[in-house]
Amino acid sequence: MALLQPSWSDQAACHGAEAALFFSPQLVELKEARLRRERAAKDICRRCPVRERCLDEALRRRESYGIWGGCTEQERRDLLRR
Ligand code: SF4
Repeated sequence: MALLQPSWSDQAACHGAEAALFFSPQLVELKEARLRRERAAKDICRRCPVRERCLDEALRRRESYGIWGGCTEQERRDLLRR
């Protein structure tokens, strides 16, 4: 039996965090609620030991939704345009 290789995501600070913080709800989200949710998610990302790796992966995969590596969808699109 092969041993499972540890993954960078095993060290993610968002393990166990509410996924809802990282993704907007399917229904309408008011701007203030969105900003509050994004701030809470970014606070978790800020103390994440794999933040850079997470952001690199999200950029590489062109993740369209959610907060990855401390960046929103729009912030990642801006990074990719540079
Ligand atoms: S940077 Fe944020 S989204 Fe990425 S693994 Fe860490 S806590 Fe999760």
